[in-house]
Amino acid sequence: TGAATSGRSWFVTGASSGIGRELTLAALGRGDRVAAAARRVGGIADLAERFPGRFLALELDVRDEGAVRDGVDRAVAEFGRLDVVANNAGYGLFGAVEEVSDAQARAVFDTNVFGVLNVLRAALPVLRAQRSGHVLQGSSVYGQTAHPGVGLLSATKYAVEGLSDALVAELAPLGVKVTLIEPGYAATSFLSNLAFAEPVADYDVTVRAVQGSLGELPPEAFIDPAAVARAVLDVVDADRPPLRL
Ligand code: NDP
Repeated sequence: TGAATSGRSWFVTGASSGIGRELTLAALGRGDRVAAAARRVGGIADLAERFPGRFLALELDVRDEGAVRDGVDRAVAEFGRLDVVANNAGYGLFGAVEEVSDAQARAVFDTNVFGVLNVLRAALPVLRAQRSGHVLQGSSVYGQTAHPGVGLLSATKYAVEGLSDALVAELAPLGVKVTLIEPGYAATSFLSNLAFAEPVADYDVTVRAVQGSLGELPPEAFIDPAAVARAVLDVVDADRPPLRL
């Protein structure tokens, strides 16, 4: 089939866990090549043996512009081109806006927004020169609506949405597509990697509810990250992919 022989080259951030890991496995599973970036790649390094010549582990921090640039360069050197760039690395921060410290706010922007920008600055010259490619931007339902207790997380994802809306128009004439990925809660390490502001103020229960209720949600309330990956593969295959998934 076309899908099995498409042979796309991917650059995926946050590939060591959750949605990024499932995306990596799904792409490899249908014959594509994947450069898989994360700070800890020990858990996925064995994929190089399972998929010879089609998997490259890149141990890097998306906050480090030079490391990201080197990673993109290595991916292009290994695979010859980039077809899909998945800006997926990120984490959640919960707490009332007032309670989030300056350090926590800057830290979450550093990864969720400046990390995305680092990847874009490194990868877009490659896609632009090719006159082809697809940028997948990791947003969230919280990139569309903000709720009490997730203001800073939403602020980072709104930033990603704004960048992406501009990118669509900037890149369309160059033959490069853009899709925002906006999952609801997915069963990944997102929950165990959450940062929390110190609850100091007398905010009502709705602010605390998000974090309080997560542990009580039944498993079926969470999306299977493999299902997210399958939906993303469909988007990558589409002739006219949606701006938002
Ligand atoms: P996970 O915590 O399972 O995965 C996050 C990935 O990001 C890991 O591979 C982690 O790898 C990587 N990562 C984090 N910080 C950095 C960094 N500084 N540099 C490089 N890699 C980094 O969470 P998900 O799979 O759920 O999250 C993926 C994306 O999906 C995130 O952007 C998240 O905001 C978004 N999302 C998730 C939802 C959910 O409910 N799960 C809902 C909506 C959106 P390592 O630690 O090895 O660096």
